[in-house]
Amino acid sequence: MGGVVQIQIGREETTRSILAIPISVIHREDRLVWHHYEDGKYQVKLGYKIAKALQEEENSTPSSSGIQGGLWKWLWGLNIPNKEKVFLWKCVHGILPTKSVMACRGVDINPLCGRCGLEVETTDHALRDCEWNTFLWTVSPLRFCLPPTAQRGTLGDWILLIRKKGNEDGHDLFAMLLWCIWGGSNDVTFSNKRINHHQLIELATSRLQEHFKMQEEKLKGMQRNFAGKWTPPMNDVIKINSDALIREEEGTGIGVVLRDCRGRVIRTIIQLRSSVYGGDVAEALACREGMKLAKELGMKRI
Ligand SMILES: [Zn+2]
Repeated sequence: MGGVVQIQIGREETTRSILAIPISVIHREDRLVWHHYEDGKYQVKLGYKIAKALQEEENSTPSSSGIQGGLWKWLWGLNIPNKEKVFLWKCVHGILPTKSVMACRGVDINPLCGRCGLEVETTDHALRDCEWNTFLWTVSPLRFCLPPTAQRGTLGDWILLIRKKGNEDGHDLFAMLLWCIWGGSNDVTFSNKRINHHQLIELATSRLQEHFKMQEEKLKGMQRNFAGKWTPPMNDVIKINSDALIREEEGTGIGVVLRDCRGRVIRTIIQLRSSVYGGDVAEALACREGMKLAKELGMKRI
């Protein structure tokens, strides 16, 4: 097909999911598959689990429409770089270019896992089920002891399950470990470069620390920008300052600071979005994020 197909569907996530579906290069008949399981066949037990999770999701966040909205909100709330967020989203939807996917697309590549050489490299295997990875998850600071393979569900289900558990700091490290495992697996495949478990955990934690440090510096810069013209609000009132920065190549940055009458910082938001908005829209979005946060914190006088 040489033409461009424009898709306009109500939910942006749905549009993105559809656009992210790799088009098959081998001409095969279309067939119905159940995307929650690797072989595409429906499983009653897992179907029940997912339906239950969807229902809980809707009950806990009445304003969001189901698991996708909740997932997106969680992803953007993580304190990790933008590209890791997008990567995590791809993991949940099983659309990473693993060796099995590449081999199916006709790329001349050995589909076996580069680490163990025993099984085909699927998303689940590359990031969790390879013995190398299960050991890593056990010895990582998160201490994940995985159940037998048959009871694990897909990687996407596992991520959703971990998301449901508390420990937000752990979520940042979890995402960063997944990212580094993926990078490490590609290094093994494409440059025959191997690092051990300890080095990979070290890499993930130091990348996360670096990111936190950068965020802190951005926040300090933002506070300096606000400081010159900032006047405190009245007693019992919270003042929200928000700003947006647009970079054509990188997307839109949003910054928000909530302060009380003594100038103390109550909460901050730093977000990087991959979309490039117009100036007014970006500033309105930043303002909206500040209002949303104030509402979530139960603040009445703003
Ligand atoms: Zn393996």
